[in-house]
Amino acid sequence: MRDEIVIAQALNGTVRIHIALTKELVQQAVDHHRLQPTSAAALGRTLTVTAIMASDLKNDDEKITAILNGNGPAGTVLAQGFGNGDVRGFIGNPDIHLVRPDGHLDVGAAVGHDGDLQVIKDLGLKEPFTGVSHLQTGEIGIDFAYYYAISEQTPTIVNVGVLVGTDRNIETAGGMIVQLLPGAPEETIEFCEKVSTEMGAMTELLRQYDELEDIVLAYFPDAEFLDTRGVRWHCPCSREHFMVSLGTLAEADLLEMINDGEGAEVRCDYCNTYYRYSTEDLKAILEAKRVRDRRS
Ligand SMILES: [Zn+2]
Repeated sequence: MRDEIVIAQALNGTVRIHIALTKELVQQAVDHHRLQPTSAAALGRTLTVTAIMASDLKNDDEKITAILNGNGPAGTVLAQGFGNGDVRGFIGNPDIHLVRPDGHLDVGAAVGHDGDLQVIKDLGLKEPFTGVSHLQTGEIGIDFAYYYAISEQTPTIVNVGVLVGTDRNIETAGGMIVQLLPGAPEETIEFCEKVSTEMGAMTELLRQYDELEDIVLAYFPDAEFLDTRGVRWHCPCSREHFMVSLGTLAEADLLEMINDGEGAEVRCDYCNTYYRYSTEDLKAILEAKRVRDRRS
């Protein structure tokens, strides 16, 4: 199975379901940021839910950013998903390996819950839409469910999981989001409450079934599949992108970097890629800046 997001509706169109396999996406995040297991689970869950949220965007350049900060040792967890299915993100502390007595990774203790989940939807309008809710457990699934209930007034089941193997290998990762549509009847609400209590852990479901559609059908036998969308780890940063950033530095700062002769190194926070610029590069950046300043 490749990474993808399947969108469906069920119960006579009164619920909407998104289900995602994000194994490769999370593996890429782990490899780029060299994440220890609990950091991998925290960022992987956040990337997965954000990818699902972004799968509803209409245009490629629209984006959704989710930022969690629970004042735990993991620091800030940030994920960003674009309308074209690209997702990227980072976690403040990549080195967390906290395990609960039952052997599960302790994401809640890593993230903490003394803080907020903030979701910023940039739909290309003048002002982005921002929603905020208080973190409930730091386990991420419950926190996003609470966000949907409070900030978007949509009752939602969020089942998300990342299974980390040895050697930072992601064995599986994915998520399922079930949302009641406005005006859903009482029977739908009761049906979903039952599903919510009976549904197995996401990583178990992904191991048990061969296809995402089969997981949906196991709980919603009348499901109708609407769309399948690609999803992948991809950061749009580039050497050129950071050259533009360097060009916004003050002339005195650029001159200082040129005079020390060491060149410059810039790191992309989102994907942990380093870009190096030689003294010659910096001279070219300064010259281009001077040309621009003369024109304006
Ligand atoms: Zn990047």
